[in-house]
Amino acid sequence: MINLTILEALKKLKSREISATELTRAHLNRIEKYGDELNCYITRTPERALADAAAADERYANGTNKVLDGIPIAMKDLFATRGIRTTAASRMLENFVPEYESTISQKYIDAGTVLLGKANLDEFAMGTFSKTSFFGAPVSPWQRERKLTAGGSSGGTTSAVAGGLAMGGTGTDTGGSIRFPCSITGLVGVKPTYGLCSRWGCVAFASSLDTPGPIARTVDDAALLLSIMAGHDDKDSTSAPNARFEMDGELKPILGDGKKLKIGIIKEFQNVEISADMKNIFEKRIADLKSMGAEVIEVSIPNILDALAAYYIIAPAEASSNLARYDGMRYGLRVEGSDVYDTYKKTRAAGFGEEVKRRMLIGTAVLSSESYEVYFMQAARVRRLIADAFNRAFEQCDLIVCPAGASTAMPLDSDLSPLEYYALDLFTVAMNLAGIPAVSVPAGLARNGLPLGLQVMGRRFDDMRVLQLAKHIQQISNVDNRPTVIMGE
Ligand code: GLN
Repeated sequence: MINLTILEALKKLKSREISATELTRAHLNRIEKYGDELNCYITRTPERALADAAAADERYANGTNKVLDGIPIAMKDLFATRGIRTTAASRMLENFVPEYESTISQKYIDAGTVLLGKANLDEFAMGTFSKTSFFGAPVSPWQRERKLTAGGSSGGTTSAVAGGLAMGGTGTDTGGSIRFPCSITGLVGVKPTYGLCSRWGCVAFASSLDTPGPIARTVDDAALLLSIMAGHDDKDSTSAPNARFEMDGELKPILGDGKKLKIGIIKEFQNVEISADMKNIFEKRIADLKSMGAEVIEVSIPNILDALAAYYIIAPAEASSNLARYDGMRYGLRVEGSDVYDTYKKTRAAGFGEEVKRRMLIGTAVLSSESYEVYFMQAARVRRLIADAFNRAFEQCDLIVCPAGASTAMPLDSDLSPLEYYALDLFTVAMNLAGIPAVSVPAGLARNGLPLGLQVMGRRFDDMRVLQLAKHIQQISNVDNRPTVIMGE
């Protein structure tokens, strides 16, 4: 049952060939067996899962079943879940049990899904390997003996979904945190258009960039998950009034049968150093798309290589302001000091990890009156230029394709400096700055047997066509990402 896609499982559930309880038990057994090794869940919720499954089975029995009834999922531990602790992988929130449900997790409840647990991540979603988690890093199920990263910051969800410890799940993408982990674990990750999925009840990192999105093994599954996540939410002031994404069955082909499609490749990315395998796979897939009838042209995003610098000013600036609320007064950790200021200091010193502190220092510095104009405003201008350049590029082409990262998963014990980690986001941050939809999709295996992903991007709210092209790429690439294959069973 572990190898089923969500769409396949739904068919079997509807025909009563399998029950939601059986499907849930199969995943709970898997969590029993591999959960400690992969460290993909911070909090497991087996009782809740079995109760959810029983309710789903009842609905199947009386014909009131919902769109995702009985599908076991992993929820990134950044989404507040009522009565279930929500840590953001931080010591600061180690014992925080929310009294409210985030909009996204509520939508998963309303769709009938089964909650297996809260997935591991980088502390406050700041990182690339999920190593900044207070609970230790999740591990990739690929080539397990090598202890590879499952990526970050949504690395707990990718580890769980790739390893068959969930059928799908949620991530958030501020600068690549859905797409990068998916590209190195052979999964499909969707960073929707900014404003399509509500941020309400999701622990804030950088509010103008944070984008909740789905993670799954196939593009069709990811599209189905997106359809239940999308929608306007009055409680999120940046939620788009026209936020809609509807699925009816499978994604329709966008290529073949003489269909016309213009695909752009980004000129400025051509000279960026990437692994020979990634270069090879990228060129192969572009050739495949051409042979299916796509026209491929070069487009220019002149400032795209400055996106990293702009991102690492804007994101920390917003984070320093968002994380000011953790002061030991209202909720979360509190370390008593000699007076109120001492309590603030002691609480924040003990509650936050090194990377989070680094971001807050950078953020506070770039927002100081001496630096505001030269750093923050300059970064905001670069952001505008990049967004405008994407708009112009999409006047010339329908969709853009580029690598999702430079190389395959690295071992967790790789010794990278903060700047080396930041550089890994080169291919992903520009899309967050521009607010456009971007999907990472498995595109091939490198010579070392590990998966590599490509990215498809489109105009704001063109999420549907982005997914349609991604589906073609997944079909052509035919990367076998069934959990039992990945885990060598
Ligand atoms: N790796 C990036 C960072 O560390 C992206 C994180 C994210 O998308 N949440 O900020």
